Amino acid sequence: MSSNLKGIRTYGAPIIMALALILTGCFGSSAPAAAAPEADAAPAVAAEAPAGDAENMNATLQAETVALRAQLTEMLTAQPAGAENGAEAATPEPGHAAEPTPAAEAGHEAAAGMDIVDTAIHAGHFTTLIKAVEAAGLVEALKAAGPMTLLAPTDAAFAALPPETLAALLMPENKAELINLLMYHVMTAKAMAADISGLNGNSTNTGLEGKQIAVAVEHDKIMLNTTVAVTIADIIATNGVIHEINGVLMPEGSSFMAGAAAEGHGTAAAGAHDAPAGEMDIVATASQTGHFTKLVAAIEAAGLAETLKGVGPFTLLAPTDAAFAALPAGTLDNLLNPDNKQKLVDLLMYHVIMAKAVASDVASLNGRTANTGLTGKKLNITVDNDTVMINGNVKVTAADIMATNGVIHEINGVLSADGTSVVAADGADANAAAGAPAAHAAAHWEYEGAEGPAAWGALSADYATCSSGMSQSPIDIRIYQPLGLEDIGFSYQPVPMKIKNNGHTIQANIDAGNSITVDGVVFNLLQFHFHTPSEHTLLGRALPMELHLVHKDADGNLAVVGVLITIGAANANFAEIWSHMPAVADEEQPVPAPLNPLTLLPKDRRAYRYSGSLTTPPCSEGVNWLLLATPIQMSTDQIAAFRTLFPLNARPVQPLHDRPVLVDVTIGG
Ligand SMILES: [Zn+2]
Repeated sequence: MSSNLKGIRTYGAPIIMALALILTGCFGSSAPAAAAPEADAAPAVAAEAPAGDAENMNATLQAETVALRAQLTEMLTAQPAGAENGAEAATPEPGHAAEPTPAAEAGHEAAAGMDIVDTAIHAGHFTTLIKAVEAAGLVEALKAAGPMTLLAPTDAAFAALPPETLAALLMPENKAELINLLMYHVMTAKAMAADISGLNGNSTNTGLEGKQIAVAVEHDKIMLNTTVAVTIADIIATNGVIHEINGVLMPEGSSFMAGAAAEGHGTAAAGAHDAPAGEMDIVATASQTGHFTKLVAAIEAAGLAETLKGVGPFTLLAPTDAAFAALPAGTLDNLLNPDNKQKLVDLLMYHVIMAKAVASDVASLNGRTANTGLTGKKLNITVDNDTVMINGNVKVTAADIMATNGVIHEINGVLSADGTSVVAADGADANAAAGAPAAHAAAHWEYEGAEGPAAWGALSADYATCSSGMSQSPIDIRIYQPLGLEDIGFSYQPVPMKIKNNGHTIQANIDAGNSITVDGVVFNLLQFHFHTPSEHTLLGRALPMELHLVHKDADGNLAVVGVLITIGAANANFAEIWSHMPAVADEEQPVPAPLNPLTLLPKDRRAYRYSGSLTTPPCSEGVNWLLLATPIQMSTDQIAAFRTLFPLNARPVQPLHDRPVLVDVTIGG
C-alpha cells in the first residue's frame, strides 16, 4: 500500500477540506461542539509580545523559528532520501513535512502523545485498517486537528470479511468506495464511550454524509448496527479518540456489502480461526508454539476453547508441558476425567486474567494481587529483579506472546488456587534459565507503569541522572542553529552481527571495523537498536520508529547517530534483521550474511547535533547526539512486526534547558 502514499499528497488536501466541512458538528443530537480549536490554540508569540528588548528578541526568535521551520520543511521534502541501495526516494510521512498545524504547536507539552493514525499503528493490531487508510489517502485527514472519533476494526475483523471483499477494498479502482467505507467509521467529533452509550436506541451521524450508525447498549457493551461490538473503548489520541470494534461497518448501499453480511450492515469477526499466521487467538497461538500441548488439551477437555477464542482480551498464564509433567503422577489424568470437569475448569480459569496484561503491566503489580477468571480467587504477583513470580514460586519464563485477543505469558508451574502450586524441576524448562537475573543485575525499569520513565530516577541511585540531569535525551527538535559544520564521515562496511532481544529493544551487536568521524574524532560503531515511536520528535511530532547507531571513541565518549523512520515502502535493507528478531528476551540470533549498516541510512546525512544523554537508565550524559534530518522508510508491516515484540519503547522528550541544537550544514545554502 505504500505506493499509495503519493496519493496522499495529491488527494490529502481536498479530503481535509471535505472533513473540515463535515466538522460542522453532525455527530448525533448530543454531539459536543466540534469547533476546531486552531484559532485560539496557538496565538503568534510575536503578536502577543509587548515592546522591550527581551520581547524584541522573542519576536526575532519567533521570526527565525518560522523561517527555520520553512527550511526544515524544505529539507524534509526536497531531499532524495531512499536507502543506499537505490530504493525509491522517501516520501516524508504526511503531516511531518507539512507546516505543522496550530494544534500540533499547542500540543508541544504533550509531545509524546500520538495522533489517531500513529496511535492505531502503535496498537499493532489495526494493520489492515492502516493499509486501507493509506490506500484511501486518508492518512493526512486522520492526522488533522480534529477532534474526531475512529471506530477501528481489528485485523481479525477485516480477516472475517469474505476474502474477495477484502481484496476488492484495496483495489485502486475502488478508492472512492473505500473512502466512503472508512469515513463511515469516523465520527467528526470526539465521542467518548459514555457519549456513544448516551445514544442507546438512536443513531449517530458519521463522516459519510447521510449515513448513520445505529447504537444499542446491551449489558454494558456498545453494539453498532446490531452486530458489531466496541471491544476496547476510549483509546485517547492527541486529535480524538479510537474505539476498537470487532467488525467492519458497512454503509447501506456499499458495493462491498454484497459479500459481507448485509443485515445489520456490519460483519463481526467470528473469532480468528481463519486469520493468517501471527494473527491468531490465544488458543491457536498456544497450540502453535508446540510446548503447551497438555494445556491446550486441558482447555479443550474443559470446554473452554470457545471462551478463550472469544473477544477477550485475556491474559493466559500458560504452564509448559514440563510444568504439567511435574504434577504428581495421575493428577492430570484425574483432572481430564469428565467427572472432574468443573475442577479442571476452575484450575484453568485460575490461569486467566480477564484483561490484556502485558509483562510491564504484570510487573507493575509487584506486591499486589490480580483477579482471575476463577471468581474470588486472586494471584499474588512479586517481581524479583527482572523475574515475575506468581504465588511465590511460579516463574514467568517467557512474556508477551501476543495473540489477537490477548497475551500469553509462559510459566514454569501449574498454579493452584489453594496456594499449592507445583513447579517444574529446574532445567526442565529451557526458557527458565534465560529469565534468571544476574547476581548483580541493574535495577529493573520499564517504559510504562510504576517503573516507567517518570520513575527511572528514583528506581536506583545509579539512575539519579535520569531525573536530575540537565542535558537529557531525547528532545523535541524545534529551534536550531544552522551552522556550516563539516558533515559526519561514515566509514561503514559489511560486517557480521548478532541480533539480540535484550528485553527493551532489538539490538544488533556488531563486530569491529565500522566507524564515523565527527569533527576529526573517530568513534567506532558498537551496536544499533530501535525505538517505537521515535524518541526525538520534530516540532512536537513523533515518527513511527527511530534507529540508534551507538559509537564510542578511544576515550570512551559516546556518539549516537539517530535515524527517524517514517511509513513508506517495505525496506529490504531491514529484511534480514527483521527475520532474525528473537521473540524472547535475552535470545540472540546471528545474521548469516554480513550487512553494511550504511544501507540503513538515508543518502542525505546532514544531522542535528546536540549534547545529550543515553535515553535509557542510567541516562548518562555527555553523549554526542547526531540526529539525521532525513528520515528513512519502513512499511507498516515491518513496523507492526517490531511492535509485536515492543509495542512502546521510547522515552518521552526531555527539557532542552539552555542547550544549543546545531545543524551541520547551512540549510538551503
Ligand atoms: Zn536508543
